[in-house]
Amino acid sequence: MWLEFHQPIRYDADPFMQLLSDAGLQHERRILQQFQSDHVVQQAASFDDTRALMEEGVPVIYQARLKDYETGLVGFPDFLIRHENGFYQAADAKLTQRENKKALQIQLGMYRRLLGGQLPAVVFLGNGRTASIGCEVDMLVDEFIRDMRQLHTLSEQPHVRYSHSRCRVCPYFSQCHTQFEASQDTSMLHGMHGRTAELLAQAGIRTIAQLAAQVPENIPDVPHLSSLKKKQRIVRQAQSVLHDEIVQLNDISLPDGTWIHFDIEDNPMARTCDRHVYLWGLLAPPYSHDDFDYVWTDDETQDYTGWQAFLEKIEQYRAEHASLVIAHYSNHEKVIIRKYAERYSMIDDGTVRWLLGLHGEAGPLFDIQNAVLDNLVLPVAGYGLKEICKHPKLVNFQWELESSGSQWSVVQFNRFQKTTDEWTRQQLKTELLTYNRDDVIATRKLELWLRGFSNRENVHTISPH
Ligand code: SF4
Repeated sequence: MWLEFHQPIRYDADPFMQLLSDAGLQHERRILQQFQSDHVVQQAASFDDTRALMEEGVPVIYQARLKDYETGLVGFPDFLIRHENGFYQAADAKLTQRENKKALQIQLGMYRRLLGGQLPAVVFLGNGRTASIGCEVDMLVDEFIRDMRQLHTLSEQPHVRYSHSRCRVCPYFSQCHTQFEASQDTSMLHGMHGRTAELLAQAGIRTIAQLAAQVPENIPDVPHLSSLKKKQRIVRQAQSVLHDEIVQLNDISLPDGTWIHFDIEDNPMARTCDRHVYLWGLLAPPYSHDDFDYVWTDDETQDYTGWQAFLEKIEQYRAEHASLVIAHYSNHEKVIIRKYAERYSMIDDGTVRWLLGLHGEAGPLFDIQNAVLDNLVLPVAGYGLKEICKHPKLVNFQWELESSGSQWSVVQFNRFQKTTDEWTRQQLKTELLTYNRDDVIATRKLELWLRGFSNRENVHTISPH
């Protein structure tokens, strides 16, 4: 925020942010149409115009503009809805499905304040639910206003900490990253929270080198870093990054059986369900490009058909191989299978019970990320599949489509759905299949890399106590 106040820059939203913004506007238009069907709705053109429409008693004011001339606070609620008691209620359309997000609560709480706080604000969520935001967020709003005032008056840029998820998508990334690199800030380490880094710095541990030199037992207890296990892990993470070496904590043991690699692509912007899996990708032996197998669906109307076809494929593999290991990276695939089983009331289905290990024995799903996290500390900023597999000193597998990624795939699939041009649709589908195929090949390469782990160079092995 300080940079936005003091060094504003112009930047173009990336395609994913643009997609979110377009979808948000579409959602807002749908709510507007609903209001227009049974209310008089007028659009405000300015702060004064909003005030005039309110004084006139217009039932619904669209794109309102509110200003407190004393404090200088402004707010732009999508709607002002006139309550039967004559007061106005602020309302926003938001794509999110949850109203407990801090930024949303502060924004809606701010509108309430600008309107005098008589009525709760309303949020029309992406899943069709409506929620109220009342005086319970007043403290958050006070804190926000206080912090923003402070930032506004600060002449020097405050010290900030790195956040892998937030900074990578921030327009100021290159500017800040240079500073983080120069200071070797501990917040750049995987698993280090900004607040934890702050408190460690106050205790004199500011840089990655300083943290790498610590005896874990001597590190003070701070939030997110109070157990000895976590302290040992973060010191090893610092050592791994500092010396650019792999730290091996334990021998790597992988389950026996025929491995099938598995990865899904889903559309979080689906209109009629929480997430629509449009691609269930699988890779069976002998794991060449030609062995890539998948279930594809064009849209949400085929959601159930796709799920059924996936379960049938699983049964085919089960019939062909006596002992199956279905390997995936991260917990997402397992969560989605459970979600689908609940969506279609199939938690008692035989295949589902087998997949989820609900039949009394361990299931075949194996999260290969756990094999990495439990046994290795790697010189990477994050433990995503791409970060580990693309790294030239680690798995060194490169995706055919350089720019592909999870946000990229959401954008491509939404383009696929929108376009009516058959050639473009085929092109987009081919790209998405290539991307998913490379994801499952990457987990196969990761499996091989883990299997050949002993006697690797540049590995520092920690002997068990
Ligand atoms: S790059 Fe990170 S630290 Fe810098 S402004 Fe963006 S979010 Fe804040």
